[in-house]
Amino acid sequence: SGKWARAMAILQDFEDKCGTPIGKLRQVADAMTVEMHAGLASEGGSKLKMIISYVDNLPSGDEKGLFYALDLGGTNFRVLRVQLGGTDKRVVDQEFDEVSIPPHLMTGSSEALFDYIATALKKFVATEGEGLHPASGRQRELGFTFSFPVRQVSISSGTLIKWTKGFNIEDTVGQDVVGELTKAIEKVGLDMRVSALVNDTIGTLAGGRYYDRDVIAAVILGTGTNAAYVERAHAIPKWHGLLPKSGDMVINMEWGNFRSSHLPLTEYDQALDAESLNPGEQIFEKTISGMYLGDIVRRVLCRMAEEAEFFGDTVPPKLKIPFILRTPDMSAMHHDTSSDLRVVGSKLKDVLEISNTSLKMRKVIVEVCDIVATRGARLSAAGIFGILKKLGRDTIKDGEKQKAVIALDGGLYEHYSKFSSCMESTLKELLGEEVADNIVIQHSNDGSGIGAALLAASHSQYL
Ligand code: ADP
Ligand code: MG
Repeated sequence: SGKWARAMAILQDFEDKCGTPIGKLRQVADAMTVEMHAGLASEGGSKLKMIISYVDNLPSGDEKGLFYALDLGGTNFRVLRVQLGGTDKRVVDQEFDEVSIPPHLMTGSSEALFDYIATALKKFVATEGEGLHPASGRQRELGFTFSFPVRQVSISSGTLIKWTKGFNIEDTVGQDVVGELTKAIEKVGLDMRVSALVNDTIGTLAGGRYYDRDVIAAVILGTGTNAAYVERAHAIPKWHGLLPKSGDMVINMEWGNFRSSHLPLTEYDQALDAESLNPGEQIFEKTISGMYLGDIVRRVLCRMAEEAEFFGDTVPPKLKIPFILRTPDMSAMHHDTSSDLRVVGSKLKDVLEISNTSLKMRKVIVEVCDIVATRGARLSAAGIFGILKKLGRDTIKDGEKQKAVIALDGGLYEHYSKFSSCMESTLKELLGEEVADNIVIQHSNDGSGIGAALLAASHSQYL
């Protein structure tokens, strides 16, 4: 019928605009490399902040002692306790707890958020084993993974540039987040010092390096997306400090804020951005990460309902609710292998209250998921390729095969297997077979927590 044809036209148009042929990905990667240079050259020189992390030494393996870590970055935060045994014993023991953040605290006051976190931390510290307590007169030390853009001032302080990923608390912006956390820690009567403030990408890089010397970069694909990598300090014109002994400096790219005219963006992306908490910002993140993918799918389905009566003569009301279709639901539909696509059917019913969908319709929905996930995965691969280009790791030099490992983490990467496998195969495609043999993508399962604890250890006040 005419309506079906109209729906197919919407789908086709969407697919065309989301296209990521290899040539386009190369342009995106080149633009990423150009922006990396610009962001390293001067403060504010690029959409990429290329934040100097003050981490100039990654874990060596000889870190020792009991350390805590706290990871705040999305809807949950995690508290972690690790006992490091040094070169031979490595991680002797680790325990963690995960606490969800009530939504009202994500847009409330800074004090309320940090009080909540400190309270949970205190509860966790109370479960510390008898033999583990610090010697008298000694403070516990914590690595704070804070996965929002921070202007780092030192390894243990930094001011919040802006919130992302659904957080929006005005009075934290411009504040030292370690100061905010420390105030709350003191208020609840906990004796603990924040020794390292790191981004989750930096934590993942540090955690990855602890287990594998060849780790040179880390990428997060979770609620948001970001990357960090090891840069040569002399290649950072905006760094006016002393050259670190190692010669290296870890850079937090904040690549979620990347944008380029080469990005394949659609009217759905524009609408999502315009209606978001941070319009005009985090455009790369909004096409790639877990917070947004499901909502792009919803927007396309909504258009099909409105303009082609795809779900019948009325638009299902739930379909109009932003973020109602979450990326895990999208992923479940996309991975549905049943012959009648019954997972798609039940998700539509349970999440969107749409019943009686035909197999033909369900196939269209899977197709929309596939277009959105494929674009996101291929663009993430282009971003990684951009980093490798910046480091000159996209070619084989003098026939020398130097292995490079990229640590990956985040719920999207971990759980959305069609996304991660597409990302990995696209990276191979970009690198070519010979170079691809030297580049390894390594899942760093919650490496950021361990990484933060390791950095707290290497920046301990008792060293
Ligand atoms: P954060 O990025 O908030 O620190 P995670 O790394 O755990 O947290 O990532 C959580 C995100 O991962 C969720 O917001 C969601 O978008 C995505 N995610 C979680 N589970 C799945 C899944 N099964 N399929 C696809 N995406 C998922
Ligand atoms: Mg995280």
